[in-house]
Amino acid sequence: MKYVCQICEYEYDGDVPFEELPEDYECPVCGAGKDQFEAQE
Ligand SMILES: [Zn+2]
Repeated sequence: MKYVCQICEYEYDGDVPFEELPEDYECPVCGAGKDQFEAQE
């Protein structure tokens, strides 16, 4: 499972599972919040 920013299509690829990121995590490219990320297969 990977998570992709729906605004800029940045693909999260960190060591920490996306679900465990803090609620104030922001997309490093466009600054969108976690709610703008969508899980993809
Ligand atoms: Zn983004």
